[in-house]
Amino acid sequence: MTSDHATRETPARRGAVDRDVVVVGGGVAGLSAATFTARHGLDTLVVDAGGSILRRNAHLANFPGFPAGVNPRRLLDLLDEQAANAGCEHIEATVTGVDRTEDGFAVATDGGDRVDTAFVVAATKNTTDYLAGVDGVGVVDRGKTFVDADERGRTGVDGLYAAGRLAAKPHQAAVCAGHGVEVAVTLLEDDDRPFYHDWTAPDGYFTDRGRDLPPGCEEIDEAERADREATARAAMRDRFAEPHPDDQVTHPTLRDE
Ligand SMILES: Cc1cc2nc3c(=O)[nH]c(=O)nc-3n(C[C@H](O)[C@H](O)[C@H](O)COP(=O)(O)OP(=O)(O)OC[C@H]3O[C@@H](n4cnc5c(N)ncnc54)[C@H](O)[C@@H]3O)c2cc1C
Repeated sequence: MTSDHATRETPARRGAVDRDVVVVGGGVAGLSAATFTARHGLDTLVVDAGGSILRRNAHLANFPGFPAGVNPRRLLDLLDEQAANAGCEHIEATVTGVDRTEDGFAVATDGGDRVDTAFVVAATKNTTDYLAGVDGVGVVDRGKTFVDADERGRTGVDGLYAAGRLAAKPHQAAVCAGHGVEVAVTLLEDDDRPFYHDWTAPDGYFTDRGRDLPPGCEEIDEAERADREATARAAMRDRFAEPHPDDQVTHPTLRDE
């Protein structure tokens, strides 16, 4: 995170809203989007009804970066942890409605909470009912419902984005994760940061060439790099030391048979 992120003014820091971003849906797309908005210093809340469909996968063999595959529930835990490390909060609740307000949106949950937010990222796979109160959201029904969005997740309603499978992206975890990131970067660019890159570069990579640090980028020195690598190695040793404790999940219609 670059230094101005923690202090720069955002709608939530101004007190205009409770949160800068509410991500509805904490699956692969939502958690990936939340990591990027939170890393940029936007106060980000993930509201998840209780489980990505990826939990049903038996062994995830095609997510980039895991050459022998990975337990999908472990991957979801790691995505959740990464979003939390970036500063994002995650609550378990079902979003029942979204309405426009003067400063953005009001998000209602089944727990009776109302959260005011500047931006909403919808990442709920095929659930669209809670968006019925927002004029201008296009819902496409192809047996399952999807939100009509452009390539970068813009829905046509300012401040409201759709990510992952909900935006009719291919039913693959890596695609939906990547699209979550793309949507978050789009949101940041639409907000106030054109040409945004969340990059960590070695010390002097930009500045020793007389360039300003681009928005979203940071430079770290060798000691900091080695420290981060040691922390990362210890974390991964720990997270993969034991099999994942959760049972395999199957299709809900098979559960009691
Ligand atoms: C059996 C099975 C095996 C699979 N295997 C693979 C595989 O090997 N490789 C691969 O690439 N893909 C695989 N997939 C597909 C992959 O799981 C999906 O493409 C991916 O999870 C979609 O990501 P998403 O974030 O769009 O949706 P999800 O990961 O499903 O996340 C959507 C989230 O939204 C939440 N939600 C829904 N409605 C609400 C609401 N109203 N309020 C709050 N939260 C809400 C849900 O609880 C969920 O957590 C598999 C899927 C299944 C079913």
